[in-house]
Amino acid sequence: MIIDTHCHLASSQFDQSRRETYVQHALQANTDRMITLGARPDDWEMNIAWARQFPGVVFCALGIHPDDAHEAPEGWTDRLFQIAQDIPLAAIGETGLDYFHVPPPGWEQENFRRLQQNMLEQHFDLAARLGLNIVLHTRDRKGSASFEDALAIARNYAGRVRPVFHCFIGNAAQATRIFDELDGMVSFTGVATFKNASAVAETASWCPENHIMLETDSPYLSPEPLRGRMNEPAHLIHTARFIAAARGMNLEDLAHVTTRNAETFYNLGKV
Ligand SMILES: [Zn+2]
Repeated sequence: MIIDTHCHLASSQFDQSRRETYVQHALQANTDRMITLGARPDDWEMNIAWARQFPGVVFCALGIHPDDAHEAPEGWTDRLFQIAQDIPLAAIGETGLDYFHVPPPGWEQENFRRLQQNMLEQHFDLAARLGLNIVLHTRDRKGSASFEDALAIARNYAGRVRPVFHCFIGNAAQATRIFDELDGMVSFTGVATFKNASAVAETASWCPENHIMLETDSPYLSPEPLRGRMNEPAHLIHTARFIAAARGMNLEDLAHVTTRNAETFYNLGKV
């Protein structure tokens, strides 16, 4: 059994009247637990609803995506702190730094990046207060400024908040810094299976086994051979098989180590 550590079940691409079906599909495909990520305050409630409907199977983490930093409502950290008193969260996030997309209307690039950085620090503060880890998205158009900036912020919380760099597509040197400087994690999506992304498969092939997790990022990024279709947690098995083969491990062993990593990182025993 494997854990889909990152999906967006509140996405409008999931037919919310068929929640049972998605969970059944996942169970039939060896995915017995999943973590749904809230990325904007207006999707938090639906992510919580999923976790309440499937206790012990669906867990939720909540945050604000960097693309939406300018829409973060006043008092969002207090609200999230309150929510965490009512429902145990698996982590804070999805959050991070996105330098790929053009800034929203009315924002200069530098100002918008600074806003994202401030918001990321607020997420880290909240995670530290709540004793939770954090789920990071970083993306650049070229270069690695978002990665470097996120790493610099994360370093201020090293030893208190562990980050996972989700949908990791970085290189070996970057992965090594996540592990050595932050005791952080990387998680791999279906991108690892894409024929034009062999560098990701290469990274997935050698990462120390106590630092890797698996995710779909569904409804996005369906793995081969389902690339181009809507993704769902049931598709995780394809990514797991691919990475197990790349590492020369059998699927059971990869499932075992990544499940143990996810249970520890997301504190699933207690959630
Ligand atoms: Zn995501």
